[in-house]
Amino acid sequence: MTSGFTRDGAVEEKKLGEESTAGTARGPVATLRRIAFLMERQREETRRIEAFRKAARTILPLPEEEVRRRAADGTLTELTGIGPSTAAAITDACNGVVPERLVRLEATAGPLAQGGEELRARLRGDLHSHSDWSDGGSPLEEMAMTAMELGHDYLVLTDHSPRLRVANGLSAERLTRQLGVVDAVNEHLGGSFTLLKGIEVDILDDGSLDQTPEMLGRLDVRVASVHSKLKMDAAPMTKRMVTAVRNPHTNVLGHCTGRLVTGNRGVRPQSQFDAKAVFTACAEEGVAVEINSRPERRDPPTGLLELARDLGCLFSIDSDAHAPGQLDMLDYGAARATEAGIDADRIVTTWDRDRLLEWAAARL
Ligand SMILES: [Zn+2]
Ligand SMILES: [Zn+2]
Repeated sequence: MTSGFTRDGAVEEKKLGEESTAGTARGPVATLRRIAFLMERQREETRRIEAFRKAARTILPLPEEEVRRRAADGTLTELTGIGPSTAAAITDACNGVVPERLVRLEATAGPLAQGGEELRARLRGDLHSHSDWSDGGSPLEEMAMTAMELGHDYLVLTDHSPRLRVANGLSAERLTRQLGVVDAVNEHLGGSFTLLKGIEVDILDDGSLDQTPEMLGRLDVRVASVHSKLKMDAAPMTKRMVTAVRNPHTNVLGHCTGRLVTGNRGVRPQSQFDAKAVFTACAEEGVAVEINSRPERRDPPTGLLELARDLGCLFSIDSDAHAPGQLDMLDYGAARATEAGIDADRIVTTWDRDRLLEWAAARL
């Protein structure tokens, strides 16, 4: 063991417990979920994280006695989806011990970015997230549960629209089915947290939106984003984006430049458009300019963020999470908004659910 931590949970727990409750021993499923969450927020390798998510799914339906017996017998790895490292974590949890891996992860689990803590504490929810219905990695109920654990009042589920085939975009029929599942999840949760109905709808080449007006009208919040022909000339791109912003269904302009600044998808330059014209349209229409929190995007770039601020735009600090742990990336967006001196009341994700829903429905 190279980390300096022991597997003697009692000792470690006490030490960690002095500062927070983070070191408290959890049950096996909660332990696996917590490990996956912390790995995701720190952008560890997806394949390694998936092992923990998969192991949690495997043991979730099993009787507690069976999990304990297998942990004691050393037969957890006979179950499909459980390998040596996940078995070790489960065994520790069964023994009331915090796994060493989790102790190490908890030790670096502070804010992801400096300077935005005050604003981050005022954020009530998130308008942009994906589930395994499109290109996310987890079921929508897992996304909802994690959002609740983060203290959100609401999370808008915004899976992709049909044209984005590479991301398994939802047809009107699949979206209709998803809305039924969202209703069922909310009935189950009942109360202080709401999973809201949404979409990340593609802005097509002519500026129209990639879903029927009828379906768009059934949703609570609509994020409109450009995902294709990002290298279009500035004049048609400006027209395309302004047309989308003027569409009364649009509430949020997602990751407006499309740039990628880091990460395993490589880098991509920002799209060219007349930002003043686009943001003026946003300000006039009450469409929020998204501050996309993903470190790969950091979109809009600082200069454009300041321009949108000066033109009187509303903003939405969103995670664009494709996995539960990424929901915590709002820290990055909050730090950028704070640095740009954006007034918290102009950030729609600081609003309570009722105010948010009223705003989102205002132009329909
Ligand atoms: Zn997108
Ligand atoms: Zn997205």
